[in-house]
Amino acid sequence: MYALIVSNVSFLTAVPPVIVKLAEPEQRLDTCIEFTVWGYPQPQLRWFHKQKEIIENDYIRTEMGFYQDYLEGCLTFQNPTHINNGNYTLEASNAMGTVTKTVYGHFLENPDEPVTPPHSGPPDEDTFGVSIAVGLAGFACVLLLVLFVLINKYGRRSKFGMKGPVAVISGEEDSASPLHHVNHGIITPCTLDAGPDAVVIGMTRIPVVENPQYFRHGHNCNKPATLVQHIKRRDIILKRELGEGAFGKVFLAECYNLSPTKDKMLVAVKTLKDPNLSARKDFQREAELLTNLQHDHIVKFYGVCVDGDPLIMVFEYMKHGDLNKFLRAHGPDAMILVDGQPLQSNGELGLSQMLHIATQIASGMVYLASQHFVHRDLATRNCLVGNGLLVKIGDFGMSRDIYSSDYYRVGGHTMLPIRWMPPESIMYRKFSTESDVWSFGVILWEIFTYGKQPWFQLGNNEVIECITQGRVLERPRICPKEVYDIMLGCWQREPQQRLNIKDIQKVLFAMGKATPVYLDILG
Ligand code: AMP
Repeated sequence: MYALIVSNVSFLTAVPPVIVKLAEPEQRLDTCIEFTVWGYPQPQLRWFHKQKEIIENDYIRTEMGFYQDYLEGCLTFQNPTHINNGNYTLEASNAMGTVTKTVYGHFLENPDEPVTPPHSGPPDEDTFGVSIAVGLAGFACVLLLVLFVLINKYGRRSKFGMKGPVAVISGEEDSASPLHHVNHGIITPCTLDAGPDAVVIGMTRIPVVENPQYFRHGHNCNKPATLVQHIKRRDIILKRELGEGAFGKVFLAECYNLSPTKDKMLVAVKTLKDPNLSARKDFQREAELLTNLQHDHIVKFYGVCVDGDPLIMVFEYMKHGDLNKFLRAHGPDAMILVDGQPLQSNGELGLSQMLHIATQIASGMVYLASQHFVHRDLATRNCLVGNGLLVKIGDFGMSRDIYSSDYYRVGGHTMLPIRWMPPESIMYRKFSTESDVWSFGVILWEIFTYGKQPWFQLGNNEVIECITQGRVLERPRICPKEVYDIMLGCWQREPQQRLNIKDIQKVLFAMGKATPVYLDILG
């Protein structure tokens, strides 16, 4: 029996909990008490209000996620009133100990109590205070008015001189354009580094989240431990390198005693480089996550090997590698090179194959949505291609090393796949099944451009400007109108107005069936 409870495997040094931050909510503005907790094993949290433990419900609940080794989140209130005022105590405990910290939360005044303290100062002092307040308010109004006029006049103008919600800029014909920061005295939307978890665009501070695909994990502290299969190191024979990801190198390997019918089989193994605390925890979380996700269009995960170094994850081997590379290799410009000389074309993908690829990714996404799993990083680089044009969603960690230009680095090490992200994810850190649908629209675009980078002609700041202003990618030259209509349905600004992934899958499947296979490129 190879089953092993990975949660109980202690690769990490135990650390007692520390409450790094517990922020007082800003009166009237905040509906959340922010906290940051550190410790290993992951601390369990409890909240107390006026010495009584808070039982979470629709009105008060904890939302949290991992940021590096820290558990960050909010005790969130829905429409808090004066009844919610008072001391809040956070208790964090793990096997190593328990700590508490208290903060005062003041949300609204009690309507039955006088709002202002009884008057005590001399009358002329009061009048002076009022005059200053009125003066300051007047100054602020003038300042705001000037800002408003300036922003309306210049701030919304893009370098393409387009206004309106859905202007389209070319995805293929435009030539590459350099990054612009300064713009002749105009207020230019520019991107500034605003610390580890925020980016400022124009006047907007955008929060960002690292390792977003693990965020969901934080919501589920009390879920039953996941059984991750354990594979013995002596059963894995490395054959050759397949690629490199954020975790480390990926190898083709033979694995013994994995299948009940074959004594050995080909697998892809991911090794964990630099196994520091943070990387080990990511490794452990990805293993648990993958064990729980099983579907025909999600790459099959066999288990982990943790007896010794490096740590290894074992996956089914997908012969043709990642979908982005595959698309590029089967585009109009791709050639097989022999001794540096073009020999023959790889064979261009046809419409039916493109639809087949898209339908399979949509199937995987229907499954993810049914599991309430939000991927947050769907892109062709994170899909894999096997025999017979079998396509699966293949990466729940990060492929950020080799495709680093697809990610936008903010605040030092946070990388965001902005070119695949909808406005609400860029601006408000909102990720949902609907934001995954937006990314699917971008995947369709990638498929129909044979793997081009979305907005390849623009720098990251310009991409952010375009997406947040409501521009969308142009129809690729070979893309039928019906397919582009699906892309547009994925790129509706309002998340609720976007197409549903189930409907997308059905439509793509029907289109694929109605399209003759005129070019068979793969055996
Ligand atoms: P990743 O760490 O998942 O980003 O993988 C890095 C690269 O290794 C990918 O871009 C693929 O080319 C290759 N690769 C990853 N997983 C597999 C797999 N299961 N089968 C074949 N190649 C893979």
